Amino acid sequence: MAAIFLVGARAAGKTTVGLELARLLDCPFTDTDQHLCRRLGRTVAEVVADEGWPGFRARESEALREVTGSPASDRKVVATGGGMVLDPANRSFMRERGTVFYLAAPAEALARRLRRDPLAAQRPSLTGLDMVEEVRQVLAERHPLYEEAAHHILDATAQPAEICAAALRLLGMPPSRA
Ligand code: ADP
Ligand code: MG
Repeated sequence: MAAIFLVGARAAGKTTVGLELARLLDCPFTDTDQHLCRRLGRTVAEVVADEGWPGFRARESEALREVTGSPASDRKVVATGGGMVLDPANRSFMRERGTVFYLAAPAEALARRLRRDPLAAQRPSLTGLDMVEEVRQVLAERHPLYEEAAHHILDATAQPAEICAAALRLLGMPPSRA
C-alpha cells in the first residue's frame, strides 16, 4: 500500500494527525505546504502575495506530485493544504496513488482552533469574513470535494490518537509502534 493522504479544511488537524500516524507506522511524513515553502524559501502568505491564489494553487499541485514521488509503493503519510482538493486532477491523483482520509469537523470547531492558533490565524484570509462565517462558507464549497476525494471520512474532533487508531483500522494495518 502506497501513500496515505490527509485532506480537510484549515485546522482540521492534518499536520497533527499526519505526524502521529507516520510515527505509528514508522514511515516518512510530508506536508505539502511545508514542502512548498521550503522549496521556494517563502511562506504561503508570501507566495499568495507574489503570485496570487492561482499561482499558489499551481505550486501546490506541483508539491503534491513531488512529495508523492515514485515509487508510489513506498509507504508515506502526506498532509495536504486545505485547498488541494479544488483541482479535480489533484483529487483523482490522490485517489489513484493511495488512500485518502478526510478529516471532517464542523465549522465552529475549526474556527475555535483557528482563533487559538496564532500561526494558523496568520494564514491569508480567503474571504475577509468573520472567522466562523469564513470557515462555514469555505466548508460549504469544499465539503463535497473533500468527500469526493476521500476513501474514508474521519471525525476530526476526536483526540489525535483516536483518529489515528480509526485510520489504522480502516487501512487494516497494525501500528508498528505503540
Ligand atoms: P491543519 O494541518 O489541518 O491545518 P493542524 O494539525 O495544524 O491542522 O492543527 C490546527 C490546530 O488544531 C493546532 O493548534 C492543533 O494543535 C489543533 N488540533 C489538531 N488536531 C486536533 C484534535 N484532534 N483535537 C484537538 N485539537 C487539535
Ligand atoms: Mg497543516
